[in-house]
Amino acid sequence: MTATLKEFQVDTSNLLFSKLTAHDYEQIVFCQDKITGLKAIIAIHNTTLGPGLGGLRMYNYKNEADAINDVLRLSRGMTYKAAISGLNLGGAKAVIIGDPRKLKSEAFMRKFGRFVENLNGKYITAEDIGTTTRDMEYIKMETEYVTGLPEIMGGGGDPSPVTAHGVHLGLKACAKEVFGSDNLHGKKVLVEGIGKVGGNLVHLLSEEGAEIYVSDVNEEALKNLAAEYKVKVVPLDERFNIDIDIYSPCALGATLNDENIPNLKCAIVAGAANNQLADETVHGPALMERGILYAPDFLINAGGLINVYTELNGYNRAIAMAHTDAIYDVTRSIIKTAKDENIPTYAAANKMAEKRIDEIGKIHLTY
Ligand code: NAD
Repeated sequence: MTATLKEFQVDTSNLLFSKLTAHDYEQIVFCQDKITGLKAIIAIHNTTLGPGLGGLRMYNYKNEADAINDVLRLSRGMTYKAAISGLNLGGAKAVIIGDPRKLKSEAFMRKFGRFVENLNGKYITAEDIGTTTRDMEYIKMETEYVTGLPEIMGGGGDPSPVTAHGVHLGLKACAKEVFGSDNLHGKKVLVEGIGKVGGNLVHLLSEEGAEIYVSDVNEEALKNLAAEYKVKVVPLDERFNIDIDIYSPCALGATLNDENIPNLKCAIVAGAANNQLADETVHGPALMERGILYAPDFLINAGGLINVYTELNGYNRAIAMAHTDAIYDVTRSIIKTAKDENIPTYAAANKMAEKRIDEIGKIHLTY
């Protein structure tokens, strides 16, 4: 087969390596398979603390640049989440480009599993948006380096109750700071997004006697929830108009932005959604200036990661829950650092994660 030199020329106007160097990514793997149509990117950000564990996202990205940006951003986030949660894990993530409803097959997912296997344990995959436990079962046929398996296969099953437990503790740790007590009885909490995590959180809050407000795009889910729990349904476009104590974003990310932060009527923001601040360097300080306490999302929603981490040594939900308990104390400690150093809580959390990576990295240099 012949090919001209010109065919191999790539667009170098946006050099990828400058991006990788800026945030110190270790390795990016591009995987393609003509037979199944698989196009995947695995980004390993940092393995100082252990193998990079991060979910496999499958999404019909508009273009390759969007897919690369997503996998870079998400893998770096995993490094921080694992570090702050005290896990011996690094940060990594994988994306597959394409529509999950059209492209997926057994061979497709197994081929991805073979690429994971080739990395020899440097990357461990898991479920994410667009992939399921069934996909993880196919991947498992080709590699040991997969988590998020169903319970009958020794996996942890749905991680959402563990995530909700951590988020609940995050809320309580913030309440202790703001109200002097971590008892949420009578506190007005708005849960935005009552899916797997939000629904479990509503359960925990109702057991504690909180006054619960809920918003969601899914009317049917709201109706079902209101039949089971004492909750007040708030239309989405009115959710920032009501006076509450705690706003808990448990749906999409980037819900805190220039428009709504000046209008928030709450004392605490603490929820499960990833990347709640549209721009952390702008909106972290903006919340701080308004005197609103923000619980860093990657810290309090780490229960899901802790759950899959527990699978690596033989899954046990009690251990996953017990490990997640630490979120309360870590949140308290971050609030203290943020106060002492007069910095936003997200910055205090980043500092704590970086400090652990730095210190453990140093002890690994010597025997
Ligand atoms: P889910 O899909 O089960 O629930 C999401 C809910 O949000 C659904 O009820 C959906 O109808 C609702 N929703 C969607 N768009 C909305 C909008 N614009 N406004 C209001 N509601 C909207 O997801 P989940 O597993 O509960 O996860 C919730 C969030 O927590 C996500 O951001 C996820 O990335 C994050 N998270 C989840 C876990 C986990 O263990 N499931 C772990 C860490 C982080």
